[in-house]
Amino acid sequence: MTTELEIGLYIFILAGFLGYHVISRVPPLLHTPLMSATNAMSGISLVGSLVVAGADFGMLSTFLGFIAVACSSTNVVGGFLITDRMLKMFKKGEDSRGERGVRYRLLRRVVLLILVAGFLASIIWLEELRGFFRGVDPTNALGFFYIVSAVLFILGLKGLSAPKYARKGMFLAEFGMLMAVVGTLFHHNIVEYRWIIGGLIIGTIAGGSMGWWIPMTAVPQRTALSHSLGALAATLIGISEYVRHGAELVNDRVLMTAIGFEVVIGGLTFTGSLMAAAKLQELLRGAPITYKGQNTSNITLLAVIVGSLIYLIAVPTASSLFYLMVSLALLFGFLLVIPIGAADMPVVISLLNSYAGLADAAMGFVLMNKIQIITGSLDGTSGFLLSILMCRAMNRSAMNVLFGAFGKIETEAAGPAADARGTVRSLVPNEAALLFDGVRSVIIVPGYGMAVAQAQHGVSELANVLTKRGTNVRYAIHPVAGRMPGHMNVLLAEANVPYDQLFEMDEINPFFPEADVALVVGANDVTNPAAKNNKSSPLYGMPILEVERAKAIIVLKRSMRPGFAGVDNELYYNPKCMMLFGDARDSVVKLINELKNT
Ligand code: NAP
Repeated sequence: MTTELEIGLYIFILAGFLGYHVISRVPPLLHTPLMSATNAMSGISLVGSLVVAGADFGMLSTFLGFIAVACSSTNVVGGFLITDRMLKMFKKGEDSRGERGVRYRLLRRVVLLILVAGFLASIIWLEELRGFFRGVDPTNALGFFYIVSAVLFILGLKGLSAPKYARKGMFLAEFGMLMAVVGTLFHHNIVEYRWIIGGLIIGTIAGGSMGWWIPMTAVPQRTALSHSLGALAATLIGISEYVRHGAELVNDRVLMTAIGFEVVIGGLTFTGSLMAAAKLQELLRGAPITYKGQNTSNITLLAVIVGSLIYLIAVPTASSLFYLMVSLALLFGFLLVIPIGAADMPVVISLLNSYAGLADAAMGFVLMNKIQIITGSLDGTSGFLLSILMCRAMNRSAMNVLFGAFGKIETEAAGPAADARGTVRSLVPNEAALLFDGVRSVIIVPGYGMAVAQAQHGVSELANVLTKRGTNVRYAIHPVAGRMPGHMNVLLAEANVPYDQLFEMDEINPFFPEADVALVVGANDVTNPAAKNNKSSPLYGMPILEVERAKAIIVLKRSMRPGFAGVDNELYYNPKCMMLFGDARDSVVKLINELKNT
């Protein structure tokens, strides 16, 4: 076991470094697909779950394994489907291939997958039934499959370094997943397929529905939900392994440690991610929920959990304490996320991505399944890296990332930037259209409101109309615009906006002074000058799109209500700024009609 642990740790660390190297090359444009791709890959916890659900480890283990199979397969199917849906949208200029070509490629892909799966299945089948490779342990043969799968996953992530290769890369990763899953179905411990099939059917239906039908605007919630499903699978398998090994754990402290980590990280990620999903779906208030002594009670709770884990490593048979520790971890995840809102939310989502990866890796250590250790490490690294990037974009410290909720913004103490009051100018669509007369340069600044209004198609059409009139149109993308890293890129790609027209904050900011019009479509916090000049603002220090430097500013939103951070926007009182009130999609359509009529 100690050698196995040593190997496992080597793998974990090396995969982390490799992951860092590969993932740091993924451009911000593809950060949302990256999240759902690592999410799908971390669904590799399916292989461990399949064994637990199909082996003869007792009724409880079978049942928990069944739920874990359903959760993990939901992530695999949903994650890969939605990643593919997103990646299909990223186009540079005109994509000449027609619908028939797409269908043909899809068919070719399905046939290839079936052939390869059949081939792999028959090899293992033959090996097991006839001793085809005499002297070779089938579990070892499976180990080689897992190595190939791991390589394919890494190549898949490497593909995400450019939109051009991203889908091909994901195809390799999907193939790797298929190999690992089909191979595992022939694992020597599996004696019963009923529960496995049940779990796979449920997961495929749930994941398939999420993958096919979920609107792009709901991708952040879906991602948070899948983190919670992955974490739930890890927690359940941890519990099942604890029950299965029982008193044996006294002689295997390493296994007890791994189980402890698995259930603690899995538990807190499960409830934390559910909370994040509920906040993003607006089932709960987005604003921080705080109370006196919150940080102290959270730290105390964490200390109790860590103390319980240490005690359990010494006395693994203290089963009541084990279940208490799991319950406290569930409570901790909930408490960790409720005080977080406002500008810290994107960090929380990617941080939970990282935690979900760690839970998956811990499950890999428990089952000594190396591919799970690798993918868990990749997922953990990806989430952590995205958290750091988000932190930089929002001017939050790395310590804030590590301690999650403990670094929340003191929104209430700072209060809204109410001193930003002044005169607000509004206009109607035909007046706005006049402002576009003869302009040479327009910068469109999309934000969360564009996603809510589903205005991306209208915005793209408006840009085409302006381009035909000789205007240079560019899009300014803030790293935390919307509700997820890369959110705006995905929506605009959906509306066929070529990605070479999208500019990151640092690239576009120098061009605002020469822009005749900055058209802000449902963006608010990411344009708030208070982030630069109002120390009392919760947004202070966050880099923003310098919209106020444009010659004229038109803001499309419904009211003077604040954005996610809950603070007033100084921009709206700027004499150059004009508000076009209304739903962004309606306003854009009216603008297009006015422009076409002039
Ligand atoms: P925002 O500050 O949340 O503002 C969005 C604005 O859109 C609102 O002020 C709202 O005003 C308007 N809006 C909503 N529905 C609309 C509709 N149908 N038509 C027109 N306008 C509509 O958005 P943002 O500027 O994109 O900034 C993102 C914020 O979310 C940041 O604070 C960021 O930290 C946070 N966040 C980001 C992520 C991420 O990873 N990107 C994740 C979580 C949180 P009205 O109600 O008046 O219309």
